[in-house]
Amino acid sequence: MLTRTAKLAIKGGTPVRSVPLPYARQSIDDEDVSALVEVLRSDWLTTGPKIEEFETAFAATTGATYAVSFSSGTAALHGAAAAVGFRPGEEAITTPITFCATANCLLYCGARPVFADVEFDTLLINPKEIEHKITSQTRALVVVDYAGQPVALREILEIAEKHGLTVIEDACHALGAKAHGRPVGGLSTLTAFSFHPVKHITTGEGGMVTTNDRGLAEKLRRFRNHGINSDHRQRETRGSWFYEMVDLGYNYRLTDLQSALGLSQLRRLDGWLARRREIAHRYDLALQDLPALRPLAVRSDLEHAYHLYVVQLENNQLTASRSEIFSALRAEGIGVNVHYIPVHYHPFYRERNFAPVGSLPRSEAAYERILSLPLFPGMSDKDMEDVVEALHKVLSEFSR
Ligand SMILES: *Cc1c(COP(=O)(O)O)cnc(C)c1O
Repeated sequence: MLTRTAKLAIKGGTPVRSVPLPYARQSIDDEDVSALVEVLRSDWLTTGPKIEEFETAFAATTGATYAVSFSSGTAALHGAAAAVGFRPGEEAITTPITFCATANCLLYCGARPVFADVEFDTLLINPKEIEHKITSQTRALVVVDYAGQPVALREILEIAEKHGLTVIEDACHALGAKAHGRPVGGLSTLTAFSFHPVKHITTGEGGMVTTNDRGLAEKLRRFRNHGINSDHRQRETRGSWFYEMVDLGYNYRLTDLQSALGLSQLRRLDGWLARRREIAHRYDLALQDLPALRPLAVRSDLEHAYHLYVVQLENNQLTASRSEIFSALRAEGIGVNVHYIPVHYHPFYRERNFAPVGSLPRSEAAYERILSLPLFPGMSDKDMEDVVEALHKVLSEFSR
């Protein structure tokens, strides 16, 4: 409360921070650099041994039987959706509160995304809303562990079982999360991860699909390699030139350079998760003194991976809109963000009438109120206190 009377930076006052704090940032150390350099000097820059090494380590971390790497999280989602084998006109139910790639992967495969509304307090897809949207054309559910909190998997897997649906879990926010005591990655039919620099570990660009189904793992391996049934190194090992293309696939391979970086990053995952949880806990405490901000609810029997720390503004306690508060915090040097514009609001989706605006009231109301606070393992205690100070400063100006 020290700065209660301080003039806001947006009104010409001194900002809390002169160097802006981003909302997310990668952590790279000397071991990462050495791991990359070692691969640069080796025989294999791509299709080499580091890929399998990374996949094996990733499968162990997530408790899945198989892990298949991809060139991005989006390519991983595309692979997962392709593995479902949608027939024209079939549908998959998904959430509007996500990055658009979650729904786009269905369009790549000729399937129609059908949006089901979220629970207002967690912003996770509501299993009851899923049930309302199931038709004879529904083949799959694409659910998102939004912010790093696992969805209600027990209920969702039950619904899927009852209706014969495949569950794709978009866990791009949730590496290291647990549901019912088990790590995210081995629970759904197919689980997709991203290694974009803002995510839990990074390979620059990169992604992974985990599954316990051997047939699906083989499909995924072919899909990322042009639909060809062997890779370059396998042929070298066998001393053979022969290969066959059996499906239509893509070049969605992760390189050995990226896999070496991923392996090195994965070793630090536990420490980073602990730090993310520590920062989230600090924000939880700070919010007890800031009634105009409400953290998302966290359900029991799970371990949150805190990719994001999202607050909802209590608009009736505020004299300014979300966008004014956003701008005021940015002016203080705090890299707040908004996750996400509901997918059905994007012009591409609007023009094609996937869901009329107004048809997903909880997602739409939430969108007007959400803000993501900076959260990444490399944040110092001072960075954290700057966020709390800026929240007090800005909200004391705009609270009723
Ligand atoms: C990051 C992200 C993706 C896409 O991953 P890329 O690696 O950027 O392609 C998909 N879904 C969600 C929920 C994400 O956060």
